[in-house]
Amino acid sequence: MDPVPAPGERDPPDPMPTPRIIIIGAGPGGLASAMLLAHAGLQVHLIERLPRVGGRCSAVEAEGFRFDLGPTFFLYPLVLERIYRLIGKRLQDDVELIRLDPQYRIIFGQGGELRCTADVARMTAEIRRLAPGDAGSLPRYLLDNRHKLAAFRPSLESAFLNWRRLLSWDMLKLLPVLRPWRSLDSELSRYFADPRVRLAFSFQSKYLGMSPFNCPSLFSILSFLEYEFGVHHPIGGCAAVSEAMADTAREMGVTISLGEDVEQILFEGRKAVGVKTNLGVHRCDTLVINADFARAMSRLVPDNLRRRWVDKKIARKKFSCSTFMMYLGIDGLYDDIDHHTIYTAGDYVRNLGDIEHRHLLSDDQSFYVQNACVTDPGLAPPGCSTLYVLAPVTHQHANVDWSKATPAFRNQVLGGLSRVGIHGVEKRIRYEKIVTPADWENRYEVYRGATFNLAHNLKQMLHMRPRNRFEDLESVYLVGGGTHPGSGLPVIYESARITSRLLLQDHGIDAQWLDTDEPLPVERTAVATH
Ligand SMILES: Cc1cc2nc3c(=O)[nH]c(=O)nc-3n(C[C@H](O)[C@H](O)[C@H](O)COP(=O)(O)OP(=O)(O)OC[C@H]3O[C@@H](n4cnc5c(N)ncnc54)[C@H](O)[C@@H]3O)c2cc1C
Repeated sequence: MDPVPAPGERDPPDPMPTPRIIIIGAGPGGLASAMLLAHAGLQVHLIERLPRVGGRCSAVEAEGFRFDLGPTFFLYPLVLERIYRLIGKRLQDDVELIRLDPQYRIIFGQGGELRCTADVARMTAEIRRLAPGDAGSLPRYLLDNRHKLAAFRPSLESAFLNWRRLLSWDMLKLLPVLRPWRSLDSELSRYFADPRVRLAFSFQSKYLGMSPFNCPSLFSILSFLEYEFGVHHPIGGCAAVSEAMADTAREMGVTISLGEDVEQILFEGRKAVGVKTNLGVHRCDTLVINADFARAMSRLVPDNLRRRWVDKKIARKKFSCSTFMMYLGIDGLYDDIDHHTIYTAGDYVRNLGDIEHRHLLSDDQSFYVQNACVTDPGLAPPGCSTLYVLAPVTHQHANVDWSKATPAFRNQVLGGLSRVGIHGVEKRIRYEKIVTPADWENRYEVYRGATFNLAHNLKQMLHMRPRNRFEDLESVYLVGGGTHPGSGLPVIYESARITSRLLLQDHGIDAQWLDTDEPLPVERTAVATH
């Protein structure tokens, strides 16, 4: 028999076992969380159904051409730089960011154009050419939005776990600054009378998949972020950022399984205890879901386990628009076309109505083209270049059957390219890939093909968005565009910091290191002036 130890001589208690975390999905949110949680010493297993990392922010590669599947505007790099710094690394060591100047060209279907630059004097001159009366308002717009961002930043950087937070003093005093009762377009009319100038500062609501006429006025900070911190192009595309993050995560000990599809989440009561995939079963203490929220719920979690986000409720929610995508490998280079060009339909309002309300395809369609090789020739074989074309369209709806509509819509979009100076494209196509809303839904597991997740109206933001510590289940956390703060790379990376903080706190692990507010290094690489 073992002798009974004298008081004070007992063995120290067993150390707490290291929590095992499974993250479903290697999108930007999943990758950023993996890095932070691994740094905190947790055992992290990231499971991704596709054969490559990045999710919507991954690469399409074929025949020597490389495209971004989704994001092409890398904005507000400070957020990801901070995540790197928190784990003792530097983003600049892994990814080369080029600041674009001009940042993009907008061609208005109603006539006129703007080459948008963050240089206030040059931008003022651009606006003056288009709408002389609006030129003087730029500094006031920038100043007001600098205050707005500073005021709202704490809300973007912390969890919103209940409605009481809305009534807190720090939120109430934001009301006069945020003017939540106004739309983005009406907010901008305080500065700019010409609808085209307003459009130049509001088309960014498309990043959220919303029209400026419905999008809350708060989101004037989106265009402000471009002017204040720049529009960047990561060499290799935004997907190169995801790939670099995955390499870093692996170096930190994260296991990344690719081509493994989570088919079911395993529960004991409401507590997630593991996942069943096409390859086997993995147990965990805590689960982080980065997969598209609405799709993951309806596919992986039995309806009767959910309290709030049941299938019926999800189906009633408002979803963002979708996108019709063309990835074109081109013979030669359109060297007189900017890196980013946006064309806004002549009847912009009708096009938005078709997308958001009537769920129809428009004959006059807005679109965006990226001609990335003017900045990054390595994306195509010698003598070739890439064109990425995005047309915002309705999410999946009975009105549009993409198996029938695709050929005609493709021709319409290709034909439209001449409006921005891209002529004779059809003859120069060497490689072509199309992704329709039906593909987003079926091949990329995006609910209704709504590429920017749940819409960002006031009823679906803050505590009313699915929460980072997921309220319906135990030991389940959300990260990515479907949770707070919302869609778009900077806020998605931020959601990883919010979610990781909650998860660590819930495990009784120090999370204070995540709260640094030290000034961030603003060391930048070249500026491309094409
Ligand atoms: C066309 C387009 C253009 C965009 N442009 C911009 C832009 O210019 N700038 C910007 O900031 N943002 C942009 N966005 C928005 C946003 O930044 C990206 O969509 C972003 O990639 C979303 O990140 P996420 O973390 O939510 O996860 P996602 O990228 O959606 O990744 C989720 C991952 O989960 C995986 N998954 C799903 N189900 C399972 C399962 N059952 N088992 C295993 N894995 C699973 C998926 O395969 C995917 O890899 C764009 C989006 C799109 C679609």
